[in-house]
Amino acid sequence: MKSVAELKRKIPVCDEVDVLVCGGGPAGFCAALAAARAGAKTLLIEQMNCMGGIATAGGHNHLCLFSEWANKVRVIGGIAHEMCVKTVKMGYGVYDNASFDFELEGLKLALEQMAAEAGLNMLYHTLFADAMVKDGRIIGAYIQNKTGRQAVLAKMVVDATGDADVAASAGAPYEFGRPQDGACQPCTLMFTIGGVDWDRVCKWRVDKDGKHDYQMEHVWLEAQKNGDMEPFQRTIMGFWWTPTRPDQVGINFTHIFGVDCRRADHLTKATIEGRRQAFHMIPVFRKYVRGMENCYMISTASLLGTRESRRIVGEVVLTDKDILARKDWPDNICYGSFFIDVHNCTGPGMDGETYRPEPGFRYQIPYRCLVPRQVENLLVAGRCISVTHRALGSTRVMPQCAAMGEAAGAAAALSIKNSCSPRTLDTAKLQDYLRSTGNIIDEDGIKKANA
Ligand SMILES: Cc1cc2nc3c(=O)[nH]c(=O)nc-3n(C[C@H](O)[C@H](O)[C@H](O)COP(=O)(O)OP(=O)(O)OC[C@H]3O[C@@H](n4cnc5c(N)ncnc54)[C@H](O)[C@@H]3O)c2cc1C
Repeated sequence: MKSVAELKRKIPVCDEVDVLVCGGGPAGFCAALAAARAGAKTLLIEQMNCMGGIATAGGHNHLCLFSEWANKVRVIGGIAHEMCVKTVKMGYGVYDNASFDFELEGLKLALEQMAAEAGLNMLYHTLFADAMVKDGRIIGAYIQNKTGRQAVLAKMVVDATGDADVAASAGAPYEFGRPQDGACQPCTLMFTIGGVDWDRVCKWRVDKDGKHDYQMEHVWLEAQKNGDMEPFQRTIMGFWWTPTRPDQVGINFTHIFGVDCRRADHLTKATIEGRRQAFHMIPVFRKYVRGMENCYMISTASLLGTRESRRIVGEVVLTDKDILARKDWPDNICYGSFFIDVHNCTGPGMDGETYRPEPGFRYQIPYRCLVPRQVENLLVAGRCISVTHRALGSTRVMPQCAAMGEAAGAAAALSIKNSCSPRTLDTAKLQDYLRSTGNIIDEDGIKKANA
């Protein structure tokens, strides 16, 4: 590829902080809030105009699981739990200790209020551009926004970009896609429709045995047989409804394959294709779904939904075997409990790697999955932590990303207090701190939260 040298220029340092958090999704928001609450001078940068990541800009108005699989025993606490309770109190959603369904705009507002209460400093419309690394330690980041190119110096950096942009730029090792061919799970552009009679949809949405039909496969196959629908998908991945907006439904249905989320040209093409698929579905819903005869498009998401991108290689790589064996870790920082949810990487529907566990399933996520190899003073949280392709099918869901984020933010602040690197941080101290801030990391925590 042709290349040019960048002009040598002085870059202004716009801030010097204890903790810089890149990316304001569930992981980054909780990381930044935790670091700020722990007394660290913290800056959060986010490329969009809100916090919440896929939960807001990504249009996904449903978070799960806060509980063990298929029951209501809550295993997630801390900031993740707090943000649900707050949003419900404000009148923008419902939460039953397992799932949280909400209005996108309401969650944006709730997160901004929580940030303001903690005095968290943020910069929207700001891209992480490059890592500043000296002697194997990250010392800050170059950022790009309307003001221009600037630098932020930081004692610790948390990479919560979902794509491990910071870790990759700093030279930390990572993996991408499934082992056999590097393919990633498909992307989805979420969209919201209005004009829905939800009661009628629910009454009609049953299978031949009268049970709730989540995926409605026969409906889409019939539409495809009649030539009314393109075959990009054949199962509903989510109709997300919130009682405070009774005629609106968030739709997880578009499926876009072969997207390399490290590339802007791929993200652009995928977004255009996702929007095309979303509009294509409106007449299909009107014709085939009872209760959706008068539905119309409200919005497509501003942020493309990425299920899989870079996964760092950390001190521990959590595997699907560890998850299914419910392995205990001495440095547990939170629980996961979602099924192994792997979408077909090359076609519609789910992949054969998908696995639905028994009710009550939960497993531990170790701190060392957040600590990348080779680069000091860097932590990674959320979708891009150190897990295998199949394990990611479960760890990637938002309550878990949020809990990991809180642990990463707390670990960054504690590392500064203890004058150590996150790699050598005494994890017992981190665990004590997480317990003291309402996080659930052991059996006692589960008992207390569910008493
Ligand atoms: C279609 C779809 C359906 C899903 N369904 C569910 C579900 O039902 N329940 C559930 O709980 N989870 C679900 N998930 C999973 C979940 O949404 C994601 O895995 C989760 O949001 C990851 O959290 P995160 O904070 O790591 O990343 P994200 O939510 O992706 O947030 C990353 C943030 O970083 C910002 N960013 C990225 N790069 C940069 C940069 N270079 N500079 C500045 N900012 C940057 C982004 O704008 C974004 O705000 C779904 C995901 C998708 C895509």
